[in-house]
Amino acid sequence: LLRLAGLTVRFGAHAALDAVGLDVAEHETVCVLGPSGSGKSTLLRVIAGLQQADAGEVVLDGRNLRTVPTHRRGVGLMFQDHQLFPQRDVAGNVAFGLRMRGAARAEQERKVAELLDLVGLPGAQRRAVGSLSGGEQQRVALARALAPSPRLLMLDEPLGQLDRGLRERLVVELRRLFGELGTTVLAVTHDQGEAFALADRVVVMRDGRIAQTGTPLEVWQRPADEFVARFLGFDN
Ligand code: ATP
Ligand code: MG
Repeated sequence: LLRLAGLTVRFGAHAALDAVGLDVAEHETVCVLGPSGSGKSTLLRVIAGLQQADAGEVVLDGRNLRTVPTHRRGVGLMFQDHQLFPQRDVAGNVAFGLRMRGAARAEQERKVAELLDLVGLPGAQRRAVGSLSGGEQQRVALARALAPSPRLLMLDEPLGQLDRGLRERLVVELRRLFGELGTTVLAVTHDQGEAFALADRVVVMRDGRIAQTGTPLEVWQRPADEFVARFLGFDN
């Protein structure tokens, strides 16, 4: 579904991404792990078209995205700090991508109700986002990212600000949800436990490069090098 080849992003002399190549199959959930500053968010931003690549290509569904603007890429992105619109209610947030695409009002309302059921917030349409708990806000952000039915859903630390108990519950729910929807997912996380619970395949990044990719079990049992072994052992 997604193919990255030679993807490079430089900030001055520093390469945030250094010739990254990656394939993601349809219906696959891939988790990107790696220390702070290794290029995880940059990777998602380039795929979403929010950051220009200096070299390389992003191909989604056989289409080279170089000149395709963000809202036409067929990707959904949930940011590290979820960035809900505080002045809009829950429905206004979830419907955002549908409005961007010019969906009719009745269609928007139907889809918003369906998504709120899906993320476990039925009937929350008119609530102010400021009145929601952190976990509820994360669910609203997830519903917003899912609303335009993206071919590829990208999540940057989707459960970042939540306590461990809630994270563990949501990981199970997400896994079920992605299975039901058949969504292809590329998710960034700091937390290996989360990656291992969620992912069909993990990608470990180091200094803008992919240090290893494999199933969670493969990476866990046979780390490619000392860096990966240390990262799995001592991060957290
Ligand atoms: P974290 O886990 O802390 O979120 P990350 O793996 O997501 O880290 P990135 O945000 O992708 O890391 O950043 C990769 C590198 O690129 C870092 O060294 C960062 O300082 C640098 N970088 C990212 N965005 C910019 C920018 N707009 N200008 C300059 N440098 C940047
Ligand atoms: Mg980041």
